[in-house]
Amino acid sequence: MPDAFPVLNPSTGEVITDVPRAGRADLDRALAAAHAALPGWAGAAPRERGEVLRRAFELMTSRHAEIAHLISLEMGKALPDARAEVTYAAEFFRWFGEEAVRVDGQLRTAPSGANRILTFRRPVGVALLVTPWNFPAAMATRKIAPALAAGCPVILKPAEDTPLTALLLADLLAAAGVPPGVVTVLATDRPAELVSAALADRRVRKVSFTGSTGVGRDLLKLAADRIVSASMELGGNDPFIVLDDADLDAAVDGALLAKMRNGGQACTAANRFLVQDAVADEFAARLAGAMAALRVGPGTDERTQLGPMVNARAVDRIASTVERSVAAGAVPRLGGTRAGGPGFYYPATVLTDVPRDAPAATTEIFGPVAPVIRVRDERDALAVANDTELGLAAYVYTGDLARGLRVAERLEVGMVGLNRGLVSDPAAPFGGVKQSGLGREGGYEGIDEYLETTYVATTW
Ligand code: NAD
Repeated sequence: MPDAFPVLNPSTGEVITDVPRAGRADLDRALAAAHAALPGWAGAAPRERGEVLRRAFELMTSRHAEIAHLISLEMGKALPDARAEVTYAAEFFRWFGEEAVRVDGQLRTAPSGANRILTFRRPVGVALLVTPWNFPAAMATRKIAPALAAGCPVILKPAEDTPLTALLLADLLAAAGVPPGVVTVLATDRPAELVSAALADRRVRKVSFTGSTGVGRDLLKLAADRIVSASMELGGNDPFIVLDDADLDAAVDGALLAKMRNGGQACTAANRFLVQDAVADEFAARLAGAMAALRVGPGTDERTQLGPMVNARAVDRIASTVERSVAAGAVPRLGGTRAGGPGFYYPATVLTDVPRDAPAATTEIFGPVAPVIRVRDERDALAVANDTELGLAAYVYTGDLARGLRVAERLEVGMVGLNRGLVSDPAAPFGGVKQSGLGREGGYEGIDEYLETTYVATTW
């Protein structure tokens, strides 16, 4: 296919298939169809939109195994992680199918008593959704579901490494009863071209992006030209704090989940382990033991617990972060050298005595590498945790709930796992502060990103 790009299997490095590359003509068709579909979809009964989303949830659930396999094939994650993703992704259809009927307005009386203020909420319009490769299904449904619930047609541009799951979702949504033009998936390996053309088009009124902070910044600049509403879910440098009164077994279990889910390729992945002096050696030893026991292999092999990284560039980046951190004084306790052979593998790695300014402590690793940094006390842990421009998630382990809540309140992040290694939940507001993003996805808040408020002043 001349106008196509390859999708690789990260477990082998081989081509799975070629996907047609969407270009300007496809974008124009998608924009025209979305624009034409807007009045009908926005004007449909909320219950009708909700029921379409409910059917999407049911279809996704009935095709659970097939979708999990496809995610694992194109992205590389181990099947248990892929299955968990399908469940999580489908839940957004169910949650926002339920939220579709709860969009309401208000009636207020002006403080002077002279008039009334009536508010309406309405869909913002056609939304451009740009998603990353690390959760090919969930990052898409976390945007599609609230947009459709609110009444917005969408154009989804998935990541070039994982377009197949997004294309499957488009078919699934059509089968669920989404009218033509309401959901279009445009896959391309030349994202800048397509996204900048879409943002320059007056029919696009919203952009929702999940990905790296650098690309998010570029898209915000493009959105600024036409004052397009923007939601941004960006990178993290998430601290995992273990205080001296923590239950260490629970902390290691939580650390495994926060670090190794998806091979460390999650924006909510624990990036730095900040461990109080008294328990630092013991925690590092137990974490290294647990990480060493993980079985490495192709994502689609039932026995695999740690699959490959998404592509060769990812392995190079992780290896360089580790090498530069070791050169800066970090000590490798486990792993630390890349594997040979086909596929894009990097081993589970634990670094101890990591200097606070080492690359592994200051940049998003996005791989199975756990840097352990010693901290003196709660105050020191907070100072190190907040000493970053990123603020997505954080984790705190302590035996004292009041202490945990005190630390949680002082962490400059959008989400905190308190004695828990997983924060993602369709019913919770997901998002970051500082350079980790703008807006929230999921929860009651998620639909707000796709709604605008108009008010009517009146007297009676
Ligand atoms: P990325 O920024 O490279 O790509 C994300 C998306 O943007 C892809 O669809 C890509 O095709 C597109 N893109 C890339 N360059 C572009 C450009 N110049 N113009 C327009 N679009 C462009 O990120 P990635 O490598 O796919 O994902 C990893 C990053 O995503 C990490 O930083 C991670 O923390 C972040 N992430 C954040 C969240 C969150 O919710 N905060 C969730 C998952 C991933």
